[in-house]
Formats: sequence, C-alpha cells, structure tokens
Amino acid sequence: MATAISTASISFTPLSPFSRRKPTFHPHHSSLPLRPSSLSSLIQPNKTPNLSLSPLPLLPPPLDSTQILELGPLHDDRRLRHLLRLAADHRDLALGRAVHAAVAKAGDGADDDTRLANALIFMYLKLGRLADARKAFECLPCPDVASFTALVSGYAKCGCEAEAIDLFCRMRQSGIDPNEFSFVAILTDCIRQGNSQLGAQVHALAIKTHHCFCVHVSNALVGMYVKCGRVDAAVQLFGDMPERDVSSWNAVILGMVEDCRYHEAFELFHDMQISGYHGDHFTLSTLLSAAAESFAHAEGEAIHAYALKTGLELELSICNALIGFYSKFGRVEDVVDVFQRMPVRDVISWTGMLTGFMEFGLVDSAVEVFDQMPERNSISYNALLAGFCKNSEGYRGLKLFQQILEDGMEMADIMLTGAINACAIVSDRKPSEQIHAFVIKIGCESNHWIKTALIDMCSKCGRMEDAQKMFGTSVHHRSFPMAWTSLICAHAKNGQPEEAIALFHEMLKRDGTIKMDEFMSATVLGVCGTLGFGVLGKQIHCSVAKSGISSDLAVENAIFSMYAKCGDLADAITFFDQMPRHDIVSWNALITAHLLHRQGDRALDVWANMVDLGVKPDSITFNLIFSACKYTSTNSVSTCQRLFHSMGRAYDVEPASEHYAAMVDVLGFWGSFDEAERLINSMPFKADASIWRALLDNCRLRSNLSLGKQVAQRLLALEPQDPSTYILVSNLYSAFGRWHCSEKVRNEMRGKGFRKHPARSWTIHQNAVHSFFARDRSHPQTKDIYGGLDILILECMKAGYEPDTSFVLHEVEEYQKKHFLFYHSAKLAAMYGILMTGRGRPVRIVKNIRLCGDCHAFMNYVSTVTGREISVRDATGFHNFKGGKCSCGDSW
Ligand SMILES: [Zn+2]
Ligand SMILES: [Zn+2]
Repeated sequence: MATAISTASISFTPLSPFSRRKPTFHPHHSSLPLRPSSLSSLIQPNKTPNLSLSPLPLLPPPLDSTQILELGPLHDDRRLRHLLRLAADHRDLALGRAVHAAVAKAGDGADDDTRLANALIFMYLKLGRLADARKAFECLPCPDVASFTALVSGYAKCGCEAEAIDLFCRMRQSGIDPNEFSFVAILTDCIRQGNSQLGAQVHALAIKTHHCFCVHVSNALVGMYVKCGRVDAAVQLFGDMPERDVSSWNAVILGMVEDCRYHEAFELFHDMQISGYHGDHFTLSTLLSAAAESFAHAEGEAIHAYALKTGLELELSICNALIGFYSKFGRVEDVVDVFQRMPVRDVISWTGMLTGFMEFGLVDSAVEVFDQMPERNSISYNALLAGFCKNSEGYRGLKLFQQILEDGMEMADIMLTGAINACAIVSDRKPSEQIHAFVIKIGCESNHWIKTALIDMCSKCGRMEDAQKMFGTSVHHRSFPMAWTSLICAHAKNGQPEEAIALFHEMLKRDGTIKMDEFMSATVLGVCGTLGFGVLGKQIHCSVAKSGISSDLAVENAIFSMYAKCGDLADAITFFDQMPRHDIVSWNALITAHLLHRQGDRALDVWANMVDLGVKPDSITFNLIFSACKYTSTNSVSTCQRLFHSMGRAYDVEPASEHYAAMVDVLGFWGSFDEAERLINSMPFKADASIWRALLDNCRLRSNLSLGKQVAQRLLALEPQDPSTYILVSNLYSAFGRWHCSEKVRNEMRGKGFRKHPARSWTIHQNAVHSFFARDRSHPQTKDIYGGLDILILECMKAGYEPDTSFVLHEVEEYQKKHFLFYHSAKLAAMYGILMTGRGRPVRIVKNIRLCGDCHAFMNYVSTVTGREISVRDATGFHNFKGGKCSCGDSW
C-alpha cells in the first residue's frame, strides 16, 4: 500500500522554468545507470549470492548484506516481494524480470497471488515498463483495487488518458469500489490532460462515495480545478473542506497565482498562518514568483523575511525564486547576495543569476556567469540569447546563435525566435536574409511564433514588402497579435501613421477577439498621439483599463503621452497624478507635455518637484529642461546656466552636444548672442550643425542679420547635404526682406536636387484621418473645401488679414503667389475641420512640419471671424488660436 501512496502523489508542473520550485532537470532520472554487478545473481539458486554491492551514489541506500542473508528462512512469497521492491528501488530490471520468472515458475495456487502480482506491477511501473506492468496485470485472475489503481496511476503519468479512463471504468464495472488512491490516480489524469469535464464527473462520484472528505482526494480535486482554469470552483471546494493540510493551502494559493489574483494569494497566505499552518518551500516559492509578477515589492520582502524566520531561506527552490524576485526589481547586490549564500546551486540558480544580470543590463557579468556554469542546458543558452536581445546586443546574439549551430545543439523554436529577434535588433538586411533562408531550410517557417518574429524582422530590416507578403499569405497566423503589432509598429516607425491606424482598424474588424498586449497598446497609443487621434486613443485607454494591462508602466506612459499630444493636457495630468508609480520616462513625458503647450514655467515646476522627490534625471531630462527656459514668462537664462553648470557635478550627466545646442538656443532666444558665442568657443568639442542651426534660427527671430550671415555660411559649409539647412538660411534672408539672397539659397538647394520635406496637414473626422498637401484636390469634398476657403479668406481680409507672400517660392508670378499661399495644407485642413465640426466647436489640426508665418497669421483671423478655437500642433508644439491671439505669443 505504501507504494500506491507514493505513485499517486500529485505534482504541479511549474509555470515557468525560473519561477517554480520544481526543477525541470533531474540528473538521476534522465537515464538509468549501467551497473557492473547485477542484483539478478541473488536469486540464482545454484550460484553463490554476490553480496558485495558497490555503493551507488545516485541510488537509494545501498543494501546491507545481512538484509539479504536474513531473507533465507522466510516464506517464499515474502522473499520474492522483498526482492521485487529491491529491484524497483535499485532500478534493476534484470532482477525484476528474474523474480517475475520465478513467480511464473511457482505457478498458481499461492494465497498471496494478488499481492505478489501487485508487487510485480509496481516494480515494472517504477522502472517505466508500462507494457510489462499491463501484461502482469492481465495475467491476474482477480485484480484488486490496488492493482487497478497502480495501473491507472501509471497510465495517467504517461499521458495515456484513454487507457487510464478505460481501466478506471473497468474497475467499477467489476464491482470494485475505488478507494482514495484510485481517486487521486484518476484525478492526476484529469490534471495532466486539463480535462475538467471528466474531473467534474469524478468529483460527483467522490461525493456519492463519501471520498470527498478525504484530504488527499480534496487536494487532488482542488488541483484539478486549478489546472483546468476553474479557480472559483477550486476556491469553493477549498472553502467546503472539513480538513485541510499544507498541500490544500498550496493548491489554492497556486490557483490564485495562476489566475493572476496575486493580492488574494497573499491574503490566503495570511489566513493560512492564522489557521496555524506554516508555509513550506512550495508555498514560499509560489508567493515569491507572484510578488515578482505583480511588482509587489513589500510582499516579496515579507516572504523573504518569513523564510529567514522559519529557517527555509537556504532551500534551493526558495533561493531560486528569490533570485527571480530580486532580478525583477531588486538591486543587483540582493541577487548576488542570495546566490552567494546558496549551499547548493542547480542549473536553474545559475540561469537565474545570468537572467538577473541581464535584467540589470550587466551583459558582461551575465556572460561571465554563463562561462562559469558547471552545467548548461538549452534553457541557459536561451536565457543568454534572450538577454542579448533584451540589451539590444544583436550582434552578440547572432554570434551566440552561430556557436549554438556549430556545437550541434538541438534547435528549439525559442532559440530560432531569439536569433530572428537578434537580427531585427541589428536591422541588417544581409543576416536577416541568411536567417530567413535557414528557417525555411529546416522547415520551421510555418510555425506561428517564428513567422511572427520573421515579419517583425523583415519590417525592421527594410524588407517591408516581404513582411507584408508573409502577413498576407497566411490567414491563420493573423490571429497572432504579435504579427499585427510588428506591421503596425513598422508603419508607425516608417512615418506612416495612417497606414498603421488603417491596419489596426482592419485587425479589429477581422477578429474582435484579438487581445491587445502591452506592446501593441503602447504602439497604437503612440500612433494616436502622433496623429492627434484623441478619440481612438481614449477608446484604447478604456479597453486597456478593462483588460488589466494598464498597470504596465510602458502602457501608462503611452496613455499619458497620447493625451498630452492630442491636446488634452488636463486629462493627461489627471492621469499622471493617478499613476501608481513613475519612472524617468514618465517624468520626461510630463515635461515634454508642458513644452508642447509652451508652458515653460510649469515645466520648471515639474523639475523642482523631481528634485524634491529625489528623482534622478537622465540626459534627456536636461535637454527638456533647457528647452523649457525658452518658454518661461520671464528671462530664465540664469536658471538655465546654473543648471547647465551643475549637471555634471550634481547629477553625473556630462553635457553632450545636444545640451550645448539647447543652451545656445536658449541664449539666442533671449537675445544673449555674446554669451552664446562665448559658450560655443568654450566647448570641449567642435560645434556641430545642430548648434549652428539653433543659433541661426534665433538670429532670424531676434533680427540679428550680421551674425546670422556668418552662421549661415558655416552651416552651409558643414552640412551642404541637408535641405533643412537651406530652408533655415532662406528664411533668415526672407525675414530681412532680402528676397534676392533668399531666392539664391533656394535655387542652390533645387540645383542640388534637394526637395523640402513635403508639408502635410490633417484633421480627424468620424474616426478617419483627412490629410492634405498644399493645393491638394484629391479629397472627395474638394469643391466644398475650396469654395468655403475662398469665402473665409475674403472674410479674413475684411477683418485685416494681409497675405504675406514672402512665404511663397519666388520664381512664381505675383498674381500666382497668393494662389499658392491660399491653398497651403494647413488652410485646407482647417477649412475641412470648420465645415465638418458643429458650430462653435473647436477645430484641431496637426501639421508634420512648422506652420508658416502666413498660415499662422491667417489662423489668428480665422479664430476671430468664425468665433472658433483653432488648435494646430506643428513640429514646435501647440498653437491655440482664440479670439485673434495665439497661445505661442507669435514667437515660435
Ligand atoms: Zn502656410
Ligand atoms: Zn502660434
């Protein structure tokens, strides 16, 4: 009977290889060791028994020779059963078979036939010989409950569901009542197969036969419901249990964790302690992985303290879970500390340590751990490859993959995916084609995960056509959110936000069941922000909140930026204040939001707040803060200078070229040109184009033509290939009425074949983007738009608007100039917005580049004439035109 209990015990398969106590690597189970001297000689009657057994380190306690000697006078059956147990314990199949032969020779008639046969069945099962066990079973004239149960359990563990069920039914048909072990055995089958239908039937039978009061059966039932995803049923059953043990608590806590109900799992652990039970290594490692999953730092540390208190802190499984927990959001010292104190380490500990270093971005330390590992398996290799990808070390990932191939390691899907991801990171066409060819050669390209990774790789390696072709050819993998995400993201990155949104809508239309993951949500929210598509952004915010992924910090940051870019600064700030935590990305986004609305003073308030809270700024933060000094209500040059000089000393961020450019921009903006020149001359490196560009544009704004001319010459010499340089220089001359010079610069630009980035403006109406180029007549409502615009221009001119033809190319005849000017893209988009939105409603436009001076003046008049608020977001930020005034104060 003792054997039946052990074979029927339930095991829970781990959630992920790193988060559970159960090691997936069993060195002594992986193969049966060959042994020089076989125990089978023991039962050969005419041979001297070989009593000198060599000690076997990996096997159960060595046999004591006196044990065997003492067996002599015993009854034959007892001796045989004992030998069978020895064969099972020592994994000696030859001995087992010899005993089997002896049993057969003894023939029928013995009283203990069934007991002996059961011992045979157990022996074969323990040695993994399921077919032999079945043969021994079938020879039994009267199998009892133990015979049936042993075999049901054997089949259940091998995943032979049909046989297990069949035997269980046969047992009941033979009039044998299942005992508690039979129930556990058949429930093990339900757990393995995830068969909740059968499980529920077994539950009903257990109630009928009163076995459900047995704690082992109840635990198995709870485990079955958890594995089948019916956590509420498991909780209800657990609540009804008259008797519980630690395994019962473990089963229901695991259920909560697998259902992502982390908070309830911690509450259950609290109840468990109140009820007088101590958590064991299984409880604690489960809860630690829950703490890591749910970012419950305090809870995780409390579990660590509990482990210390109960003396479990050096348990292998708990240490492995601690490494995972501290890797997720501890300090690197915490991880190293746990690792170093471990008395025993397995491959999971080493791999956990490697993953931990990768999480902290310490790639070289992770590689060192990998090199020191006493044993490695495919999980360790995958962890290293995934770590390279996580840290954007694409080339190192590819090199590792090459080594894996050379070592002839078995190729797992996850490894291929890792290699493809590494290729996507390096964004190099050539290796991407090689890997692609390799995948096709080994016949893995139809695997959905791999195909999705391939689509992502192609879209990142400039192979958009291949990506689209792959996406189009297979209907099936379109149910994979990652494939959609890759393409949507690729469009977003390639400056095709409208294509991205169109694809997103197509996805929703095709398959409403696709669940957006964190990455897709953040991507689409980003596109909504770029387009100023606030309605869609809000819808995504709602669906994200419902699905529970809104607690992901990257998604939260994306939601915030979306609101800020769509002009809803108040909503954005309300959202920011409600976020449970902020990282430097969140803070930088908050400053950016104020900059978009040209609120320099408020951006500096955010900075003061960050200083108070002790938030460590990064290099981007400084860039933003310097830019904020351009938008303050009073001259803030001194504040900016103070910050600039303290950034290296106080915050450990050395000023780079972009910081100098921002600083020069601020000095120029406030008219401190001497200071600006002095700063440029004192720079530790040569001033690059961005610095001159910043200075040049302020020469235009502050009417400093003499300096402007010098800067323009330097800039043209430095960057003769950049069309934006010519535009800036030409704008400078135009601002001073030097049409001839301005025209010369533009001619030079055209002569070199450069074209300026085409201006485009759009507005959102009824969930669609309506986009316009200058003099665009492709819109279906073109007639209404042009008709309306002509009337509007006349109205504005009556109110005092004078078209400023300096913003038109000068080779055009004077009468044509106005025509060119009137149909700038921003004017067309504004007109469409005015036509389509209700009376008195604000009109929102986005322009991809800077608004021209004439359009800016025009919008001021439009806001007066129509009594509407016009909001234009251009490359510099928001212009809110209201009652003939712009929020930018006409200097931008
Ligand atoms: Zn314009
Ligand atoms: Zn403005």
